[in-house]
Amino acid sequence: MSIIIKSDREIAVMRQAGRIVATVLEVLKLQLRPGMKTWELDAIAARELKRLGAMPSFKGYHGFPANLCVSVNDEIVHGIPGNRVLNEGDIVSLDFGAIFMGFQGDAALTVGVGKISPQAKELLETTEGALKAGIAAAHPGVRLGDISAAIQNYAESRGYSVVREYTGHGIGQEMHEEPQIPNFGLPGTGPMLKKGMTLALEPMVNIGDWRTRLGDDQWTVFTADGGLSAHFEHTIAITDSEPEVLTIKDY
Ligand code: MG
Repeated sequence: MSIIIKSDREIAVMRQAGRIVATVLEVLKLQLRPGMKTWELDAIAARELKRLGAMPSFKGYHGFPANLCVSVNDEIVHGIPGNRVLNEGDIVSLDFGAIFMGFQGDAALTVGVGKISPQAKELLETTEGALKAGIAAAHPGVRLGDISAAIQNYAESRGYSVVREYTGHGIGQEMHEEPQIPNFGLPGTGPMLKKGMTLALEPMVNIGDWRTRLGDDQWTVFTADGGLSAHFEHTIAITDSEPEVLTIKDY
């Protein structure tokens, strides 16, 4: 399979899908509070998705049982919502995808529950900064490795590590299209970026080592060393000039 270039019309639909994803994440962020069970976040996501007339990307994907991934503290990605109670000081990664008129949007963010430690706050800021650095590098004519290197350099120069076993990805009618977008790599390598490419950039950044461990549920990915991890993601489109972030509420 090769990288699928989208027309302006297709990107306009992806903009709508992206807006839905951003709206749901915003609602979740506002509702999140200590004492909540993680399944309640999934219920909110399902309700909002219905209200907005879209379908979940994740539910049923390779058998994933929920609308939303909820990954707490040392959980990196793919946490399954359930009876876990969120406590003051936890950090919670919310990863959410929606399908609208046949096209996908995918985004994630990590938020603190109540007051969090300075170390956790700095991890969140660094991970969001790494995503912004990746987006800022996404110009036509540069290579995919330039995005990967920008993300890696941003995180590692601040003393953090980037997860290597899980990557960003092309996105469109399918949630996962070509290319894979590692959060580490060498500038000047990989395919050249072209107008009409739509990509989900998603740095996963750890305070400690980058290595991971798969949980007993065969979904939840943990840091191998038990340290905290954060995850920020946006779906973007490559344009003639600056990249367009599709998973935002307002334009
Ligand atoms: Mg993704």
